[in-house]
Amino acid sequence: MKTNYHTHCFYCDGTGTPENYVLEAEKRGLSVLGFSSHSPVPFDTSWNMKKENLPLYREDVRKAEKSVSGKLQVYLGLEVDYLRGLWGPDDLADEGLDYIIGAVHMLKHRGEGEEYLSVDGPDEEFEALYTETYGRNIKNLVKDYYTMVCELMERHSFDFLAHFDLVKKKNRNNRYFDEQEAWYRACALEALTLASEKQITLEINSGGISRGAIDTVYPGPWLLSEAHRLSVPLVISADAHRPEHLDFHFHQSAALCRQAGYRNVRVYLDGQWQDTGL
Ligand SMILES: [Zn+2]
Ligand SMILES: [Zn+2]
Repeated sequence: MKTNYHTHCFYCDGTGTPENYVLEAEKRGLSVLGFSSHSPVPFDTSWNMKKENLPLYREDVRKAEKSVSGKLQVYLGLEVDYLRGLWGPDDLADEGLDYIIGAVHMLKHRGEGEEYLSVDGPDEEFEALYTETYGRNIKNLVKDYYTMVCELMERHSFDFLAHFDLVKKKNRNNRYFDEQEAWYRACALEALTLASEKQITLEINSGGISRGAIDTVYPGPWLLSEAHRLSVPLVISADAHRPEHLDFHFHQSAALCRQAGYRNVRVYLDGQWQDTGL
């Protein structure tokens, strides 16, 4: 059964209308399609939905749902940023969504103002964080990223956590750090242990591969094995920004889950989260 709950359309930084995605999902034989535009945040970015577009997005997805001819199930979600003291999934709890993905993309930039820069956006943003805010101390940047991930899990409610180790997106060829080093593993494992304690579902996300940024999924294979050891549930996600990526890497991701020891993944089906065999 092919599913995807991590889908960006033109309401945020994706390409195509909800209807385009529904038609493509049917063509590709998906059983379930969930929309998860980047939610509005309290300031403008180039990739978050504008607040005034939220009712239109909701309407458009529900309308696209009605255009389904076969058995495809369509759900309305959002990917919501956590920003310390400012914003998070709980701020959108009353929007009538079917599910919410919790995510950390941005860290606070230095200075008095409320400027946030993304760890996964343009290279210049990551470089500005790295050099100006963190004085080229990559350990502190990575630690702060995982601290935000932990705070998101501790302070907000959501259905699954996006791209657990997104902070590695700019780290192709170990440009900034080595994931095998003890300090990095300790940071990641501390957050993973919290996910286990709180039984928070993670996703295996192939969006970094489809967009040509990195060669591995989030979380990487060693973290997937640890996640299985710690009994952390998983959802398979494409993080699609184009209709043709809805099932990108689906079978490879399922195979990676099996290699890590998983026999089941979580699916949102018939209006509830449940396990399905791999
Ligand atoms: Zn994301
Ligand atoms: Zn996303």
